[in-house]
Amino acid sequence: MPAPNSRDTTLKKSSVSPLFFILGSIIVIIAALLYISWQGTASARLHDFAHMLMGTEVTLRLHSDNRREAEQAGQAAFEEMARVEALLSRTVDDSDVERVNRRAGSGPVTVSPETVTVLRAALEYAQLSGGAFDPTVAPLLDLWGFPGGDKRVPEPAEIETLLPLVDFNLVELDEQSGTVFLPAAGISIDLGAIAKGYNVDRGLAVLSAAGVKHAFLNAGGDIGLLGTRPDGSPWRIGIGHPREPGQVIGVLPLSGDIAVVTSGDYERFFEEGGRSYHHILDPSTGYPSRLLAGVTIVAPTAMEADALSTAVFVLGPARGMELVEDLPGVEAVLITPELKVTVSSGLKDIFEPVR
Ligand code: AMP
Ligand code: MG
Repeated sequence: MPAPNSRDTTLKKSSVSPLFFILGSIIVIIAALLYISWQGTASARLHDFAHMLMGTEVTLRLHSDNRREAEQAGQAAFEEMARVEALLSRTVDDSDVERVNRRAGSGPVTVSPETVTVLRAALEYAQLSGGAFDPTVAPLLDLWGFPGGDKRVPEPAEIETLLPLVDFNLVELDEQSGTVFLPAAGISIDLGAIAKGYNVDRGLAVLSAAGVKHAFLNAGGDIGLLGTRPDGSPWRIGIGHPREPGQVIGVLPLSGDIAVVTSGDYERFFEEGGRSYHHILDPSTGYPSRLLAGVTIVAPTAMEADALSTAVFVLGPARGMELVEDLPGVEAVLITPELKVTVSSGLKDIFEPVR
């Protein structure tokens, strides 16, 4: 027998549920529409810029409600990066670095405080990496034809002759007077493995000062981030597959003011006699370092990530990862030539391999 009130209950069920169902559906539809239109507005406020700088295409994506302000901030960032390039590139006439190299063996050269800062950092990373990173590697780079010369495999004797000139301890940096002296003709410095990172930091500083809260700046693999993506989710950084151009081997979801810099043997190379020779040289041998194919470093600034990406590349997987794990705030993804991927402790939980 049904309970006396069962009819009421049945009545309630059949009359109230559809109402709830309709109301619920309306709320869900409105929420979805609001979300879609908000997403649309967020992406409409994304502004993209691209310029050739430092021998690479530099791309910038920033978020701003105001197109004019976005354009002004973007332009200011690119102007800043062009200014820094003109100080630190050894291939730009009258840059600080070109003047220092030209006066090697002749006398000290007064340089800007920024050049002092970057060179001091370069010498510190040289020390820290036991010379795996060495800004005095320039004579060897020239011999191999990197970046813009005639690329060829040198004779072993040619390399032997230059090795004594490659030693960061030879650089006389006087921070008080702001001068740099290379004490013998033939010594020269190249800041290519650290200056791009410093430049990305400068670009982001200018964007930040202009009030930009969300930005993604990529100078050919030297990436600097400001904040999250506009919708609050992390930026997704693809790590290039060393042997499949255009493909990624993994993704790092990251946010915050942080840098992600990659060094790879696939970035600049030439082939001779069926072998490939790339642009990151082991200063102790004078030959391209072959222990790793790709190194991605995550660090608080692009300058330190840049220096460390090159240092770890030369140190190889074992010593390189040891250095990374010793440095607070620094993480890495290492890829060997056999495509074995190793991830440092702080990235293990977030690294997304792509199969
Ligand atoms: P990255 O892409 O940051 O690894 O920098 C590579 C660039 O750094 C090369 O194109 C050279 O200009 C320079 N370089 C190559 N080998 C070394 C090295 N062992 N230490 C410092 N700079 C290097
Ligand atoms: Mg580097």
